[in-house]
Amino acid sequence: GVYLYQNRLLPQEEVHISPEDRGYYFGDGIYEVFRVYNGRLYEADAHMRRLQKSAADVRIELPSEPEQLLHQLVELVAANRLTEGTVYLQITRGEASRSHPFPKAAAPVLMAFTNVLPRPLAAVQSGISIVSMDDIRWLRCDLKTLNLLPNVLAKQHALDRGAGDVVMHRGGTVTECSASNIMIVMGGRIVTHPANNLILHGITRAVVLRLANELEIAAEERPFTLSELMEADEVFITGTTAEITPVIAVDGATIGGGTSGPVTRKLQQAFERSIEAL
Ligand code: PMP
Repeated sequence: GVYLYQNRLLPQEEVHISPEDRGYYFGDGIYEVFRVYNGRLYEADAHMRRLQKSAADVRIELPSEPEQLLHQLVELVAANRLTEGTVYLQITRGEASRSHPFPKAAAPVLMAFTNVLPRPLAAVQSGISIVSMDDIRWLRCDLKTLNLLPNVLAKQHALDRGAGDVVMHRGGTVTECSASNIMIVMGGRIVTHPANNLILHGITRAVVLRLANELEIAAEERPFTLSELMEADEVFITGTTAEITPVIAVDGATIGGGTSGPVTRKLQQAFERSIEAL
């Protein structure tokens, strides 16, 4: 496929990333994953704003202006003739011999590519089961950095147990999943962890809260516990690739009736409309 490498669209074979890229040995970089529906970038501005925040907080300068970068991503999607899929974009602190301090001369290295990815229609319909796990990550989970080892281990922990994902918690307070946010429904109200340093501020999370507001479904951003999760009427996860996926079991115990609940379905329908309106 065609890659965006720094400022240029190139065939993959012409992208040469150095083994001395700091992304490779320090995970010293940031990334974004954009969703493409019907050849169009979904919530592109929100993703660009989050990228800018990640970049600013880890002190990496974006190699181009956000508007220009967005334009290049649109061209990347077109060059790959992508209709349903994702755009992966990463920016590292650049190439330098291995030493912890920020290198004086290194320039950020940007690359992006597309992936064909059908919508997760089966999981969105039938739901997934999840297992709980200690959240052992650092205290800046709001930054979308390349350091995903805890998330990788967490996802594999779930798969090894026949579950679709993990739900992570800090001392019994639920934070998020390995690559998605999590919401519960109790008495018709949505509850989800506040957007602070302990979770990634999911774009889909924000979309769902906006849709809930439009649908006049009450939503509360507050920490909730594993026991509240177990007793919830409905549970669902949100993410760029997960969309709104119902959770039908936690640690082997069935949630609700073991199917997607009415609030989840209403939100899913509104989410469908937001895709059609794109
Ligand atoms: N939390 C984590 C840890 C994630 O990796 C993701 C996926 N980007 C999310 C939440 C969901 O965020 P979004 O809705 O922006 O994809």
